[in-house]
Amino acid sequence: MTYKNYPMVSRVVFGRGSFNQLDEILAPNRKGRNAPFIFFVDDVFKGNHWLTSRIRLSYKDKIIFIPTLEEPKTSQIDKLVEDIILEFSELPSGIIGIGGGTVMDIAKAVALMLTNKGESKDYQGWDLIKQPAIYHVGVPTISGTGAEVSRTTILTGPERKLGINSDFTPFDQVILDPELTKDVPKNQWFFTGMDCYVHCVESLNGTYLNTFSQSYGEKALQLCNEIFLENNLSTEESQDKLMMASWHGGMSIAYSQVGVAHALSYGLGYLLGVKHGIGNCIVFDHLEKYYPEGVAVFKEMKAKHDIELPKGICADLEDYQFETMIDVALSLEPLWENAIGKNWKTIITRQELLELYKKM
Ligand code: NAD
Ligand code: ZN
Repeated sequence: MTYKNYPMVSRVVFGRGSFNQLDEILAPNRKGRNAPFIFFVDDVFKGNHWLTSRIRLSYKDKIIFIPTLEEPKTSQIDKLVEDIILEFSELPSGIIGIGGGTVMDIAKAVALMLTNKGESKDYQGWDLIKQPAIYHVGVPTISGTGAEVSRTTILTGPERKLGINSDFTPFDQVILDPELTKDVPKNQWFFTGMDCYVHCVESLNGTYLNTFSQSYGEKALQLCNEIFLENNLSTEESQDKLMMASWHGGMSIAYSQVGVAHALSYGLGYLLGVKHGIGNCIVFDHLEKYYPEGVAVFKEMKAKHDIELPKGICADLEDYQFETMIDVALSLEPLWENAIGKNWKTIITRQELLELYKKM
């Protein structure tokens, strides 16, 4: 038995207001006047001086605002990389992603593709990246995905929705400033927060579970229960705890895997463009067979926060579209193996997945 030797984020700072240290954290990593820092910032912060005034631009540094209506695409990554190469005479000193999972994944992918030849679609999978990325920094402004800590960046390509999973993907530096999440709208707070909750349930109930994953998963689950079920947390406590729950949830799946909800949610994302957080919620709501306890508590959380999930999103789909979603879901073999076991192919049928999708 060989155990996997995982990389982790090398440096992390945590604290309300720690975003003010951005400039001093970046300064020692500047490679020269012609090697800019490039800041990818969620375009929800356009015109938000409270945040952008703390990004100090020197020499050729640049802010690029990123729309987050859609999840990252391989073509979008290739275009961003090409633009950077055409605009600057040298490779950037670093890429800084400030936003949710969408912007952080874009930052990771661009940092990787600046040093690896070809198109990003060719690197979707496990351990296909050969060259280290350039210095990259993640600053979450919404909590739950664990993208700040993971060794993947999830991209939709021409053929699949799949991450670039590699030892070079994790950030070199993460800044965890829970205050940055203060203006997240309530529904989005719930959907992205539930991504973390689902990571915990899928990790803790999977066959890949080991003590490493379990210790992180249990802590994250406990934090989620406090945040989403208890009444006595202050807003600040709740923000702080969700940021750490996201981190621990991400650490938990780093050494295990996600499961049925993520597999089916990827199908919805690929075919219909349903975003990760809300997609997980739509799917998870129907998974009592696989995760009875987790789904019961999820329904409690949903009721407590008056969350209405969209219904009937698969109502008008054609047979071939269901087949596409089922193909995408089933192609994620490690997720099924974790959820069901090595013999999953003898247990999970296309018919069963079809019936699940038809309920959504
Ligand atoms: P997101 O990044 O798409 O952001 C969701 C919404 O919240 C956007 O409209 C954004 O503008 C808004 N928002 C973010 N911060 C805000 C703030 N402080 N104030 C107001 N609005 C704010 O959503 P997400 O759920 O964080 O990320 C989803 C993405 O993450 C998907 O693309 C998914 O594939 C990816 N993901 C990656 C990993 C990984 O390990 N790499 C894990 C899970 C999910
Ligand atoms: Zn997830």
